[in-house]
Amino acid sequence: MYDSIVIGAGIAGAVAARTLAEEAGKKVLVIERRNHIGGNCYDAFDQNGILIHEYGPHIFHTNMEEVFSFLSRFTEWYLFGHEVVAKVGDKLIPVPFNLNTLQMVYEKKKADRLAEKLIAEYGEGSRVPIMKLRENEDPDIREIAQFVYENIFLKYTMKQWGQKPEEISPEVTGRVPVLISHDNRYFQDRYQGVPKDGFTPMFERMLDHENIEVRLSTDCSDVLRFSDQGVFFEGERFEGDVIYTGPIDELFECRFGRLPYRSLNFVFEHFDRESYQGHSVVNYTVSEEFTRITEFKYLTGQQDTDGTTIVKEYPFAYTGAEGEIPYYAILNEENQALYEKYQALAAGIKRFYLLGRLAEYKYYNMDAMAKKAMELARSLKK
Ligand SMILES: Cc1cc2nc3c(=O)[nH]c(=O)nc-3n(C[C@H](O)[C@H](O)[C@H](O)COP(=O)(O)OP(=O)(O)OC[C@H]3O[C@@H](n4cnc5c(N)ncnc54)[C@H](O)[C@@H]3O)c2cc1C
Repeated sequence: MYDSIVIGAGIAGAVAARTLAEEAGKKVLVIERRNHIGGNCYDAFDQNGILIHEYGPHIFHTNMEEVFSFLSRFTEWYLFGHEVVAKVGDKLIPVPFNLNTLQMVYEKKKADRLAEKLIAEYGEGSRVPIMKLRENEDPDIREIAQFVYENIFLKYTMKQWGQKPEEISPEVTGRVPVLISHDNRYFQDRYQGVPKDGFTPMFERMLDHENIEVRLSTDCSDVLRFSDQGVFFEGERFEGDVIYTGPIDELFECRFGRLPYRSLNFVFEHFDRESYQGHSVVNYTVSEEFTRITEFKYLTGQQDTDGTTIVKEYPFAYTGAEGEIPYYAILNEENQALYEKYQALAAGIKRFYLLGRLAEYKYYNMDAMAKKAMELARSLKK
């Protein structure tokens, strides 16, 4: 009845299913345990008629023409240069830290002098990790690095990852950039924005194909059994390809222990007023227990509404309890070794493929995920 089975209807599963159905003519069954498609990119209207992102704000951004044109078959876009500000003291300053931020945190004469120094040292348009700035001999440049470290990086990272300052690896610190430019955009990608009528309709169109059947509210363990003898679907041996985008540890009853993740508690609030913060995303980098507030109407461009809905994000350690969602894989050697034990078990199942952030225990942006899904599906076309 089916040539291939895809578990999970997030961007990994949906792109893989469409590619298999369309380019290889395969009959594909998509199994999704939630009662909706879209995975964590899912959006929907709240009770006040405001389009919200239920699993955290998502902005699509890419330089990959192939991915952008593939997704553009299923949606028009509301494209914009995504900007983020950080609340530091009583100011909202652009992040990543750039030459405009410099003008906001120092008085003009000093800011002009520092900007000249940064341009002379690193060149206009460059992107310098703060670790590199901190190594500079010039005390002015070190002062900027120290400001960024203390006011933009440290507390935010501690909240996000639940770490103490001494536990934060210098590698992570080193990646925080300072932009030697007046570009306030958070991403520098060519295309950035959101689907004009939302992510969920984009997924609906992607999965709307005569060769694709979607079963919602179905956990793969309801219909599938995996063993070294192969895959059994509804009690019978299944000979086709199976792509799994769910958590790899759950597939094997977490027999070696759970893979650690950070989770997030999303607290939504609605206000009967035009605007709450006037920005799509405000990061709280020195105060508060939440990491950021997103005001959806500034992200989605929605205008047919008087009120406004926001979401606050509170990070916490994922325990696997009912209702918790694993969001960010915690990448270190120990966890990677644990992942590889599960990966070795999966490798023993014939025609079984791991794909996606949960199955690969890895952070992916949407565009990279879509690309990887297309590549895997194309490799299975024969
Ligand atoms: C807070 C947050 C914000 C983000 N913002 C951005 C952003 O702005 N831009 C960007 O490019 N990326 C962003 N990302 C990353 C983006 O969410 C991922 O790239 C994307 O969700 C990965 O898709 P996926 O299909 O691998 O996983 P998911 O979206 O998690 O989909 C997996 C699906 O599999 C289903 N599933 C799991 N187990 C089973 C099972 N046993 N049986 C049946 N179904 C199952 C799940 O219910 C889920 O629907 C963000 C991530 C987070 C956490």
